[in-house]
Amino acid sequence: MYVYADNAATTAMSKTAIRAMEPYYDTLYGNPSSLHSVGQRAAEALEAARAKVASCLGAKPEEIYFTSGGSEADNQAIRSAALVGARKGKRHIISTAFEHHAVLHTLKKLEREGFEVTLLGVGSQGLVKVEDVAAAIREDTALVTIMYANNEVGTIQPIAEIGALCREKGIPFHTDAVQAVGHLAIDVERDQIDMLSLSAHKFHGPKGVGALYCRKGLPLLPFIEGGAQERNRRAGTENLAGIAGLAAALEEANVNLERNAAHITALRDKLIDGLSQIPHARLNGDREHRLPGNVSFCFEGIEGESLLLLLDAKGVAASSGSACTSGSLDPSHVLLALGLPHEVAHGSLRLSLSEYNTMEEMDHILKVVPEVVSYLRDISPVWEDLEKGVKTHVI
Ligand SMILES: *Cc1c(COP(=O)(O)O)cnc(C)c1O
Repeated sequence: MYVYADNAATTAMSKTAIRAMEPYYDTLYGNPSSLHSVGQRAAEALEAARAKVASCLGAKPEEIYFTSGGSEADNQAIRSAALVGARKGKRHIISTAFEHHAVLHTLKKLEREGFEVTLLGVGSQGLVKVEDVAAAIREDTALVTIMYANNEVGTIQPIAEIGALCREKGIPFHTDAVQAVGHLAIDVERDQIDMLSLSAHKFHGPKGVGALYCRKGLPLLPFIEGGAQERNRRAGTENLAGIAGLAAALEEANVNLERNAAHITALRDKLIDGLSQIPHARLNGDREHRLPGNVSFCFEGIEGESLLLLLDAKGVAASSGSACTSGSLDPSHVLLALGLPHEVAHGSLRLSLSEYNTMEEMDHILKVVPEVVSYLRDISPVWEDLEKGVKTHVI
């Protein structure tokens, strides 16, 4: 058995999404900007996809801009709001310490350009407090950008309350909803969201395509110059196959949202209950305000990368908070933001589930993870010190 449990990194495409894309590689190859009928059929398909995406978010079609993914949507939303704010002398931005790098690195760059950024703490449970957002707001705040749900520890933020606060203060509110869209019921009106980023490959759509919702009336600056596509906000011939795949995947996810969430939550809870039995293990992030598919643990005395490699060999694809992919041995900024000590954050494991996973697969994970953890502890000098009392247990 091989279990794919890394759906927060990316998902397998749904058959519906694949089928929706096929015509655009074959018969519907027109350029939506062309005036002839081949182009016009493509333009109609583009607008149909836009309307579908808008309706899944409670938005209007003219508020949806297609991008190359979640990172581009985050970059554009944040840079645009910052530059628009700066025209009015507002150069302060509020965000959180555990955002995705697409947000944090954009903010770092803006800091170098003279903006001031307040990164709010998220506490030991990985939740932003609305009072903290309120306290950080200043006269010159140009933007509040806070993720809907965290990609590593799965915690869902009080988005509607933050939206209401920002609306009351007249400050644009952006949310990176890449982990939430397709998994939680999203309504930009209910939550008073001004800008929202999403990405197709996180809900069984294709990679390399996403969207930015930007409320009508809020200025949105382009960062790719060229043609007049996307109402002059994003130049370049549209990735029509990708856009059609995104819209089909999102519609499918929304239609099945409740059923999928019930199934995935049951899988998640089985894993959380089972893995909690491992001694010196800790669930990362609040258990209640949590994405249906997220399971994140730290195991004391082990090292995330070894855990992942052994799990892979035993038929489980998972991920770790340690940034081994980036070539750095620093533990993830997300786990550090939750206040975990470095050595504990190193032993992290994220299992992220989708509706394609089964209970039998959870049984396999629950058999394999304790075996691998105990094997790694047996050969770990750190664990030996903990057991001899040379070091004290933190978990
Ligand atoms: C995956 C992810 C992104 C980046 O999306 P891409 O489409 O891969 O660029 C941004 N934010 C969050 C929270 C994510 O999980």
